[in-house]
Amino acid sequence: MAAFDHLIIGSGINALVAAAMLSRKGDSVLVVEREDRVGGCMYTSDAVTLPGFHHDVMAATFVLFLTSPAYAGLAEDLAEHGLAFCHSAHPTAALRPDGSNLVLGMDRAANVAAFNACGAGDGDQHAADVGAIEADADFLFALLGQPLWSRQALMLLAKQAWKKGLGPLKTWFGEALEPSRGWLETRYASADVQALWAAWVLHVGLTPEATYGGQMSRVIAFALEAAGAPVVKGGAGQAAAAFRSLIEAKGGVVRTGVEATKIIVEKGRAIGIETAQEEKILAKNIIASTAPGQLYDGLLAGQSQPETTKKYRHGRGNFQLHYALDGAVEWQSAGLEDVALIHLTDGIDAVSKSSNEAERGMLPAVPTICVGQPNRLDPGRCPEGKAILWLQIPDAPSAIKGDAAGQIETVPDWTEEMREAFADRIEGILSRHIKNWDRIKLKRRAYSPRDLEQMNVNLVGGDPYGGACTLDQFFVWRPVAGQVNNGTSVKNLYHIGASTHPGPGLGGGSGLNVAKGLGA
Ligand SMILES: Cc1cc2nc3c(=O)[nH]c(=O)nc-3n(C[C@H](O)[C@H](O)[C@H](O)COP(=O)(O)OP(=O)(O)OC[C@H]3O[C@@H](n4cnc5c(N)ncnc54)[C@H](O)[C@@H]3O)c2cc1C
Repeated sequence: MAAFDHLIIGSGINALVAAAMLSRKGDSVLVVEREDRVGGCMYTSDAVTLPGFHHDVMAATFVLFLTSPAYAGLAEDLAEHGLAFCHSAHPTAALRPDGSNLVLGMDRAANVAAFNACGAGDGDQHAADVGAIEADADFLFALLGQPLWSRQALMLLAKQAWKKGLGPLKTWFGEALEPSRGWLETRYASADVQALWAAWVLHVGLTPEATYGGQMSRVIAFALEAAGAPVVKGGAGQAAAAFRSLIEAKGGVVRTGVEATKIIVEKGRAIGIETAQEEKILAKNIIASTAPGQLYDGLLAGQSQPETTKKYRHGRGNFQLHYALDGAVEWQSAGLEDVALIHLTDGIDAVSKSSNEAERGMLPAVPTICVGQPNRLDPGRCPEGKAILWLQIPDAPSAIKGDAAGQIETVPDWTEEMREAFADRIEGILSRHIKNWDRIKLKRRAYSPRDLEQMNVNLVGGDPYGGACTLDQFFVWRPVAGQVNNGTSVKNLYHIGASTHPGPGLGGGSGLNVAKGLGA
């Protein structure tokens, strides 16, 4: 007899969305998580630098969740269970090595004026770019928010063809395949405007030359301008806590420290799991939020598996750096005080160079650095008068072949020495932009791609996005070309998480799609 209607392996955002939807529907749900906390990449800790300093160890920015269909469906319930967001009027900025910066606000007219002042017509182009996404928002967000290989998606396409005309729809898809470099270099005159958007393509797991990067960057530009770059009050871990509280209030069971080691299959149907703790738990449906390698080579070892899974590629690694500071940052460049996320980059060529170096296994000579200022949005993250910084370096190699600057001695696996030497390089770039750096720096903590994988087994090689997001592994082809939505070769077994459509980030889309498919 199945003990649960649904057993969910893992407790990342997608698992928690599925568990919340299904338990709210009245089904019996069990979530098992191998770590001693729920949330996966949503993890806040005050044991990172100094006591009293609360750091989002991994994911921090919830714009994808705030704009997602999952949030639209769960917002009220989650708010009742303690989820709240903190905002800044200035979601992002680019800060170039010469100290020039461009800040994005949340008022379109003000952004248009600022961009026009940078380069003739750049503001008008911005209005046209985000305006086009806005006009297509229903179509775009609906495509991302439902199973793609489905009658509904086909209907949506047909409706769009009817609305636009077949020829214009063909043009639309052609332009949507444009790389970010092509978009930025042909539309924008100003190097500052180009720099503002250049690094964002890294946050969707692409590089400036990758197909469809231009469209993804335009979607990000629209989302940041419209919804900002919010953080969770109290930290990303509070989002996980709100989900857990909601699931348990609806009768769901959440167990940490329980690792699924095998999915039990009988007559081609999943009927339960075995755990590392030597338990056997039966359920009618199994929903696995794991990387494809673990699912097909581990949990389903010995069962039939899609041949193509072996070809699945993980993307570049990610590097995190956290600081506890003795006071507010005094930027050399004006206007950055309350910006949520600042990219330190010289623009499209610099982003291209650093991501290419990381792709080739090299430590980038000048990495692209994303600096978050969470306590500017949520002052409770640290003691009064102090500050924290959240740095993400999306260009870190998983396996190392050398140092592009020829300065750091390397071996193929990340070591503590290499991690700290690379952190020194990042700190060198950061500190040049901050007047009072020597006075305020209290403590830092770095996480290499290897450290990230140790915290979350799904981050294979430190890849934060559950697999390379190139076109061949995205949309209807995620994780593999033969994939049909979230189904698997085993009946009653569903695959969710960053490795499945609609891909990585805190949108919770795959969890929502599977829950809806199961009647939620
Ligand atoms: C450093 C970093 C920063 C990021 N920053 C952002 C950001 O600011 N904004 C954003 O939108 N996205 C960000 N991302 C991406 C985003 O966080 C992830 O794509 C997303 O959270 C992945 O969610 P998921 O549902 O796939 O599950 P995950 O968060 O990957 O969680 C999976 C969970 O499953 C558990 N698990 C795996 N196997 C088993 C098993 N066999 N038994 C039991 N449990 C198991 C794992 O322990 C883990 O807790 C970031 C990612 C990283 C790594």
